[in-house]
Amino acid sequence: MFGIKGKQKDSGFEVKKIRKDFPILSRKIYGKPLVYFDNGATTQKPQVVIDIINELHAKENSNVHRGVHYLSGHLTGMYEVARNTIQAFLNAKENHEIIFTSGVTASINLVAFSFGEAYVHEGDEVIISEMEHHSNLVPWQLMCERKGAHLRVIPFNEKGELLLDEFKKLLNEKTKIVSVTHVSNSLGTVNPIKEIIDIAHAHNVPVMIDGAQAIQHEKIDVQELDCDFYAFSGHKVYGPTGIGVLYGKEKWLNDMPPYLGGGDMIDRVTIEKTTYNELPFKFEAGTPNYIGAVGLGKAIDYLLGVGFDEIRAREKKLLDYATEKLSKIEGLKIYGTADHKVATFSFLLDDISPYDVGVLLDQMGIAVRTGHHCTQPLWDHYGTEGSARASLVFYNTFEEIDYFCEGIEKIKKMFS
Ligand code: PMP
Repeated sequence: MFGIKGKQKDSGFEVKKIRKDFPILSRKIYGKPLVYFDNGATTQKPQVVIDIINELHAKENSNVHRGVHYLSGHLTGMYEVARNTIQAFLNAKENHEIIFTSGVTASINLVAFSFGEAYVHEGDEVIISEMEHHSNLVPWQLMCERKGAHLRVIPFNEKGELLLDEFKKLLNEKTKIVSVTHVSNSLGTVNPIKEIIDIAHAHNVPVMIDGAQAIQHEKIDVQELDCDFYAFSGHKVYGPTGIGVLYGKEKWLNDMPPYLGGGDMIDRVTIEKTTYNELPFKFEAGTPNYIGAVGLGKAIDYLLGVGFDEIRAREKKLLDYATEKLSKIEGLKIYGTADHKVATFSFLLDDISPYDVGVLLDQMGIAVRTGHHCTQPLWDHYGTEGSARASLVFYNTFEEIDYFCEGIEKIKKMFS
């Protein structure tokens, strides 16, 4: 059904072929072809990722780092190859600057705790923004409460763009760290993180970037960005759930105390005292999600095979097409109209509850997300409780956008 007319608009991007790589995209929901517009929540997995996970569980499974036997050595090797894949993907200087975590939330909690322990004292300040996901807000709040420090917040304008002049005013000698999202999950805004990093560094303040919604859309170069920390989740970049990454500059990671204690993160343990393992293991306590890490490495290889230039170009076309079509629907208001954004559309339709919109779209086979999308302060800014959100990626099609817009028109009629 999908992908025929779209070919003309794609000039070369073989979406039909790409969609075959993702088995779930050909399934039906209530007898209708699935239109998966909930990629902001999680992305679908290509067959190569599904295969490697199954294969490792079936034929190779063994705990890493702890065995002298064949299987353990083999999987340890694969786990470390995955780390090298991520290092190359992010262009990190050292592979021990790549810490495997369970996801962005775990990565940010690690930094908030550990950086906080090392560097934050009473009266100090931490800067975040008003559009942060709760995962990049609550960990800092917890740390500030523990340390007697204060959160400062960069506001945004009605289009959903951060106000950099206000950011500059917030920086002072008490600022210990800035943590902002690269791309807003609710608004789709791509924040000018290079500029934010440069401004903060001019005040000797390190910067953490929440890359949860950016990593699937553009190629990240942590050395070029010069960010101090960058975090992302495997499941949002076509990889498995339960695996994620924290990139951190070696100098910070070496100085920061461990976050979780347990196996693998130790050098020597006595009842009186423990000395810690070197990076990256110092921050990887317990059995890691080694099969997830290998699956993530596969997902990255797959994406590099598709090509980030191609992904960016296609997603821009989907963004422009959907923006034009949605803006023609009377009574539909899009939240997030930044000049630089990804194909994420938070919207309200007349005074219809976004939940009703979501449920009715679902009956047409269209998956969107509804609610506050874990960004309640962002919705407080707009004076509403949330939205319906369609988030598109390269495997979505122009026909799906047409079908989605027809669906919205139908819902409007039902309520009129
Ligand atoms: N930050 C942003 C911007 C997100 O979109 C998300 C996931 N919705 C997270 C953090 C948290 O990611 P995870 O649940 O994978 O830890």
